[in-house]
Amino acid sequence: MSNLEAIQKRRIFGIISHPDAGKTTLTEKLLLHGGAIREAGTVKARRNAKFAKSDWMEIEKQRGISVTSSVMQFEYEGKVVSIMDTPGHNDFGEDTYRILTSVDSAVMVIDAAKGVEAQTVKLFKVCSMRQIPIFTFINKLDRQSKDPLDCMADLEDALGLPSTAVTWPIGNGLTFEGIYDRLENKVYLYKQKDGVIELGANGVFGDTLEGVISDANLDILRGEMELLDGAGNPFDLQAIKDGKLSPVFFGSALADFGVTPFLKHFLEWSPAPGPRKTTTGEVKPTDEFFSGFIFKIQANMNPAHRDRLAFFRICSGTFTRGMNVTLSRTGKQMKLSQSTHLMANERETVETAIAGDIIGIYDSGNYQIGDTLTDRKEKLFFEPLPTFPPELFMRVHPINSLKAKQFQKGVQQLAQEGAIQVYHNEFNDVILGAVGQLQFEVFEYRLTNEYNSEVRMEPLDYSVARWVAPGSPKDVKEYLVARSTLVYDHFERPLLLFANQYTLNNFMQKYPEVKLVEALDVD
Ligand code: GDP
Repeated sequence: MSNLEAIQKRRIFGIISHPDAGKTTLTEKLLLHGGAIREAGTVKARRNAKFAKSDWMEIEKQRGISVTSSVMQFEYEGKVVSIMDTPGHNDFGEDTYRILTSVDSAVMVIDAAKGVEAQTVKLFKVCSMRQIPIFTFINKLDRQSKDPLDCMADLEDALGLPSTAVTWPIGNGLTFEGIYDRLENKVYLYKQKDGVIELGANGVFGDTLEGVISDANLDILRGEMELLDGAGNPFDLQAIKDGKLSPVFFGSALADFGVTPFLKHFLEWSPAPGPRKTTTGEVKPTDEFFSGFIFKIQANMNPAHRDRLAFFRICSGTFTRGMNVTLSRTGKQMKLSQSTHLMANERETVETAIAGDIIGIYDSGNYQIGDTLTDRKEKLFFEPLPTFPPELFMRVHPINSLKAKQFQKGVQQLAQEGAIQVYHNEFNDVILGAVGQLQFEVFEYRLTNEYNSEVRMEPLDYSVARWVAPGSPKDVKEYLVARSTLVYDHFERPLLLFANQYTLNNFMQKYPEVKLVEALDVD
């Protein structure tokens, strides 16, 4: 098989959801369909058992959550599908955001009884910034749910995302009878396992469904289809591919119902690895030279190696183990001799890989998040990964001041890994910023265990951060309002912290000349 054919078959996506919407259950069902696992419960079991092998993941074991993210791969109808696993707990971190910069599409799981929830909104923003296709799976139809039309309206209202219903539920909870696939003109029957009815030319308005589903549900379904056919967004594949329209599916991950039509359409419409923007143009997956970028660095995944593991997305060319590449940031030559698959349960050495693959490269401290490796002569820089504003802040200092050196080293390394944001104020206090509480716990744990530096952490009463955009008045210190403070990031760029949105609004009204931005690109 040529590289081109193999690339065309690859699909890399991430699943985003609010905790408990059913991300793990859906992942598991997808893996079951792909034959990657044999029993339900495996993904959960992995979360609780296998990952606990490594030492700092004790935290993960204690809390029963997934701090790490890895790749789960399966084959389905000739496609090689990789699901990038992201931490699902409320205590998610910046990692979750960054993982999404490496995927080509996303699946958004929504609880049909709850609609769009807070964490989904945050993760959705990252996906929409990248304009990747977003597929929506509205889950738990076997339970009492919101009106499906309200669920669709919710997507539009809460996310500003136009959507088009591909499948549609017939009833819900106790009255749940099936899923109607509008494009294929078929009904999947819920109570009759594997029961599928092909509808005639008149679709739900013909007589095929009469006597098969209840009159009440048929009435409602016909009414809803009239509305959707008349006023809903029409199906538009190009808009889906451009990330401007989300195809919506309904089902029950737990009952493995509605998952088959979802997977089938998803694989048909989701994109294969495409070109990636660089600072000087574009890299195509079919380009001969080898290139890719690091989107995540993970420490000590294997306790036998104290090394770090860099997660690398290949964007062009072919990787062969032992190859020589250049690290564009420093110009340094690197030999890629230690590489690994990132599949959930296996860590096998990888010998070759192509564009669209994600591999792990062992790192003894050379790499940073966002780094490019290439065997091309000229340097190459992919579009920078965005930095996201943290929402939680802590002041931190070493308990034993004689260990200040270890402390500094640890702080620097963890900042480099992207595990946490590190700032300082004018008194040179170290201030940490995170998007999830867990990042602080991991920070404290690792500083104590890996750098032998115990720390004291003191929560700060800020929750909103904004960078001061270039072109604003220089001496921002003069412009503070009550319950705000000024810190600097590691590029010495000023960042204002505010107690809450109200304080921020107050500031913006008072000092319109200071331009604030939510995200800045990494230099
Ligand atoms: P995650 O936090 O998004 O990964 O959610 P999980 O997959 O762990 O699911 C959270 C809870 O919802 C679990 O108790 C699941 O068994 C349950 N659940 C998931 N999908 C469904 C579904 O389709 N129907 C019902 N009734 N429960 C579900």
